[in-house]
Amino acid sequence: PIDSILLQGMVVNGFKRGSKELGVPTANLDLSSENMSKISHLLPGVYSGTVEFITYETNKDELLEKFGENFASVKLRTAISIGWNPSYDNSHRTIEAYILEEFDNDFYGESLKINLTHYIRAESNYSSLDHLIMAIHNDIETTKHIVSIE
Ligand code: ADP
Ligand code: MG
Repeated sequence: PIDSILLQGMVVNGFKRGSKELGVPTANLDLSSENMSKISHLLPGVYSGTVEFITYETNKDELLEKFGENFASVKLRTAISIGWNPSYDNSHRTIEAYILEEFDNDFYGESLKINLTHYIRAESNYSSLDHLIMAIHNDIETTKHIVSIE
């Protein structure tokens, strides 16, 4: 566990590097200066935590259908990768959250509140796609076990 860190931001476009195809889409959070300073001291790697939708203009119907009338206060488990952005010469951090829930619709533009509660592993370059996929599945299993939703 870590001292929990609260991040808030909008879901922006990433590189679409096949994460959806791998079955693990990641909601990329925009990097406000506030988020930047909050993660500046964190080790790059994978974290676990919870996520809530702060806005839901594009996906309200789906959230309503999935979680009922209280959808706005629903917390979901998430595995978050905190890394470096290659398009800025690795000088900018990236925050990408895989939410442990299946959604039919994208939710670009919505605001999320992410609470980082655990550090799972360091960032690493896997030599094969298979190994990366195994690592991601392991992150998801770990997140299921260590993050409790009250
Ligand atoms: P990008 O490179 O634009 O981030 P991804 O392939 O990583 O593209 O897909 C991310 C998008 O998929 C998110 O922005 C969100 O709109 C959607 N999405 C659907 N289901 C999920 C999920 N369970 N977790 C995270 N994002 C999801
Ligand atoms: Mg992504």
